[in-house]
Amino acid sequence: MPFKIEGISSDIKSMMFDMDGVIWKSNTPTGDLSYFFSTLQKNNIQYGFITNNATKPIDIVQKRLASFGVYCEKEFIINSAIATAALLKERFPNGGNLYIVGEEGLISTLAEAGYTHQNNPTEDTLAVVAGLDHGVNYQKLSTAASLIRKGAPFYGSNGDKTFPTPLGEVPGAGTILAAIAAASGVDPIIAGKPQPFLLDLMIERMQTNHENTLMIGDRLETDILGGNNAGCPTLLVLSGVSTRKNIEEMNILPSIIREDIFELLTEFNNE
Ligand SMILES: [Mg+2]
Repeated sequence: MPFKIEGISSDIKSMMFDMDGVIWKSNTPTGDLSYFFSTLQKNNIQYGFITNNATKPIDIVQKRLASFGVYCEKEFIINSAIATAALLKERFPNGGNLYIVGEEGLISTLAEAGYTHQNNPTEDTLAVVAGLDHGVNYQKLSTAASLIRKGAPFYGSNGDKTFPTPLGEVPGAGTILAAIAAASGVDPIIAGKPQPFLLDLMIERMQTNHENTLMIGDRLETDILGGNNAGCPTLLVLSGVSTRKNIEEMNILPSIIREDIFELLTEFNNE
């Protein structure tokens, strides 16, 4: 039985969820996640989670989901570190040395994929990769920029300039990418949303199609723009960052809008 959502012309067979502001806010789930995702399972809707946050390893995210009664194979949880590794694989399939400005989550994910971080880069450094790094300093920026000026390609995990915390907006990976771009004169190749690469990777793993996969997120400029860029129907939930007013201001249009993901449950009850 094809699953239809009012406002979306194609059948929905799978869903991709952003995490922060969608399924939880800080440490608090946005509702009964166990019931929600078991309803999707009962209706044969595949689901996966995609996040630009590359600071936490996937097994930690998987455990956190399970603590709320949501069970998901690691394969269907993709962060921008995994997307960066997949992007590097396309160009450097045999792995090698990198100069990474980033934290443990990014460094360990790239190491698992065969890419070693060098504190002191040598001649054989394949590329510079940068993401959020609370320990960023002048020396790191300088080393990264000098490698890029000598010809090393420059990759970024995600372009989010800030991210929300209980204390307000704080600098994100995009702020660090911007500093390296300013110092090197080169813009990064970005793996995370709103580039379609991360979404394409999830669709490939789910073995589904773009038009049948609903992208669900709370941020217009990453989740919704990313879904639109990838050619997926998009759902903006108002449980996180973006508001209805932002839609006009930014001119980024989701296919549909709901207060939160739990409003989708009424669509199942209508069948
Ligand atoms: Mg979010």
